[in-house]
Amino acid sequence: MRFLIAATTLFCGLVMSYGQTICIDPGHPSENGGTTGKKITETRANWEVAVRLRDILKSKGVKVVMTKQSEKEKVVNKRRAEIANECKADLMIRLHCDANDGRGFAVYYPTVKGTSQGVTGPKDEVLKSTEPIAKSFYESLVNALNGTMKANGLMSDLKTAVGSKQGALTGSIFSEVPVVLVEMVNLKDAEDEAFIRSKKGQQTIAEAMAKACLDALKKQN
Ligand SMILES: [Zn+2]
Repeated sequence: MRFLIAATTLFCGLVMSYGQTICIDPGHPSENGGTTGKKITETRANWEVAVRLRDILKSKGVKVVMTKQSEKEKVVNKRRAEIANECKADLMIRLHCDANDGRGFAVYYPTVKGTSQGVTGPKDEVLKSTEPIAKSFYESLVNALNGTMKANGLMSDLKTAVGSKQGALTGSIFSEVPVVLVEMVNLKDAEDEAFIRSKKGQQTIAEAMAKACLDALKKQN
């Protein structure tokens, strides 16, 4: 009993020290099934890293809400944003893997409003609050990965295929909280794929993103 009280006090103490909520959004299946490498699907890579990121953040006393509860659960992008809004997340972090000719990771965030399903967003205050968080997040992520992965930059949602048509990604348009999307690796690149398939690689990027989340939120307080 004494142990339980001590453990509870410790846990609450940690929670109060951050008092923050992070919504982790493991990409796909949503409007589409995601891309695939030769040996791992994007959905699986996103999910496996998300679970590690969740566990790391929870161990640091952060409240974590996931937008889906199992790897294959289908949740459309609008609903993913609503889940982040409902828990009033301090940050929504969306995990994806790219499939083009390059290598490495990139971070995207909404810089202007877009329109999807007749809705225009995100609101000005979300654009304003996301910008410094996205900049800090990217900078910390680059530092934490320390050259392990090639850094391709912090970019506007407009640089994505969907964002270039809509003005912003669907998950950004419906978000009422700061939101960033990480393209963690390029699954068409064999080394990138091997990295994200390995437990070590998954843990490395999850730890780096956890640090980047906490650094970004610390600066807001
Ligand atoms: Zn994706």
